[in-house]
Amino acid sequence: MKIICIGRNYSEHAKELNNDIPDEPVIFLKPDTAVLKGNDFYLPEFSDDVHYELELTVRISKGGKYIMKENACKHYDEIGLGIDFTARDLQSKLKSKGLPWELAKGFDGSAALSNFVPKDELPDEIEFRLEKNGDIVQHGNSSQMIFGIDEMISYVSKYFTLRTGDVLFTGTPAGVGRCGENDLLEGFLGEEKLLSLKVR
Ligand code: ZN
Repeated sequence: MKIICIGRNYSEHAKELNNDIPDEPVIFLKPDTAVLKGNDFYLPEFSDDVHYELELTVRISKGGKYIMKENACKHYDEIGLGIDFTARDLQSKLKSKGLPWELAKGFDGSAALSNFVPKDELPDEIEFRLEKNGDIVQHGNSSQMIFGIDEMISYVSKYFTLRTGDVLFTGTPAGVGRCGENDLLEGFLGEEKLLSLKVR
């Protein structure tokens, strides 16, 4: 199973990190060892600035290569939430040198995944939000994505064969921020709480 992520897919978030709005999707991967086990996220010792990024996730239900955008909907049945934990200090350092981000994005536990919900049960415009210690810190809607789910599947499948069980992270809306010890992070899809994590 692989995890494919898109960066800068919400213009307000691209702006908050002083990035340009991309005209092609910005893609990176996390290894399967990044999947967080359990409900405790342990801050890694190599970073002093780990950020939460709440994102809609998509589970691939049928593999494929060169999937056309018009057919992409046949390749996923379920949508969930994920947190793309990011060592922002390390990422900034790597970015400034023009180096790949993987160490900052793909470390153990950096991909928190919720259960998945059948997409038929969700509206076309999917609302989601992250609460940190009970306060709303991120709020997004799938309609605000620069590249939609179908477009992203079509794009990445030109480069990577998609397999059943692969997961796509679809980008984070504005409001990313630092995780502190003992923070409680709760992710809501619509009004349903799908994620509840404690930072250790
Ligand atoms: Zn992200």
